Amino acid sequence: MDRSPLVEISWAVTPSVTFNSPRACVPSLDAWAEVDLSLLEGVSFRCRPGCGLCCFTTPAADPREAERLIQLDPNVPWLEGEDGWRFVAGQGDGGACGFLSRCECRAYPARPFCCREYPLSVHLGFRAQATVVLSCPGVTVAGWGNPTDAASLRLPPSGLSEELEAAHEEFEHQPHAHRLAECARRWRVLEGRLRRRGSWSTPEEISDSLRPHLRILARSGFPPPPPPPSSGGVENLPLVFDPDLGLISIADHPAGWEVLSVEEKGGPPRSLGVWPAPDQPPSVTADGNRVLESYLEYLLRRDFTYWSAAERLRTNRGGSLLEEVGADLERFGALVLARAQLLERLHPSEGGPLTAERVWDGVRATDGEYLDRPTLGWVL
Ligand code: SF4
Ligand code: SF4
Repeated sequence: MDRSPLVEISWAVTPSVTFNSPRACVPSLDAWAEVDLSLLEGVSFRCRPGCGLCCFTTPAADPREAERLIQLDPNVPWLEGEDGWRFVAGQGDGGACGFLSRCECRAYPARPFCCREYPLSVHLGFRAQATVVLSCPGVTVAGWGNPTDAASLRLPPSGLSEELEAAHEEFEHQPHAHRLAECARRWRVLEGRLRRRGSWSTPEEISDSLRPHLRILARSGFPPPPPPPSSGGVENLPLVFDPDLGLISIADHPAGWEVLSVEEKGGPPRSLGVWPAPDQPPSVTADGNRVLESYLEYLLRRDFTYWSAAERLRTNRGGSLLEEVGADLERFGALVLARAQLLERLHPSEGGPLTAERVWDGVRATDGEYLDRPTLGWVL
């Protein structure tokens, strides 16, 4: 494909240097220089062989990307989008992208931008902000659960250079300036409307108010909302990679929550069991609690948290932006703990309070629902 030459992304710091200003470390070219990269600090990524979780999607392709993919395999079906965009259809009912075969992408050199960038996601809102999809099991964040390791939170990301290059390349290639301007305009309209209702606080004010209460918020959301039922389509269920069981989904069931095994080719998922829906916050180790609080703090730093809450308030009557974001943190804290507890039940030999590793599993089982959005403003 004819693309402009890649610009090398360099996080020009060494691990021994405090990483205070990520923006100073990206090329000062065009709109990409304005992308907020601070959420990538401390993030490490290494794809896990045999996972394939991110390919259970219908990736978007622009006309040139679609043309290349169709040349590779004209038999893969497509879904039509808008403005010339198309989406690779999934295999069967709730199966993976049509190009996935035995956990390998048959179109790897020609895969579209959204695949090349994953697990990065660039959210367009009141600014452009790069985030990481934490449902990817290849992602870890240094310092989560380990207060003595806090300095490593400020390290530049590792293992993401190709994904950053791809995101940068897409930023150059796709016309984002008008989308960003439109997002900024919509944010101002939302702010004006919420101010007139007395429902407005700035993201900074909300973050300052909620940050001291993260541990309470994480537990006050019990019982969490159930996952969707499997009758609504496997593609709508939370998807998790389990090293022993492969890809599994969680679904609502009359007797509690059901765990299902998901197949690349789609079709009815196999039930791995039904467990009572968690209705009380589980016991959690100190490190596990710190992982949970780190995750909620991470949500407070994500622009999408405020954007989605403000959008919901636009159509709801009561409430304030502060209350709405607080309710989101309660809900996501409870979901993380409940799903971590369910995954623990799948491996009954472990027992005991939920460890940091298990809480991380709960984060992975939850985050996709919140941020697994197509990249670069497709949320619009
Ligand atoms: S979800 Fe992450 S670990 Fe799994 S295949 Fe995708 S990039 Fe690799
Ligand atoms: S094109 Fe390849 S990388 Fe992208 S979703 Fe499909 S199989 Fe996965």
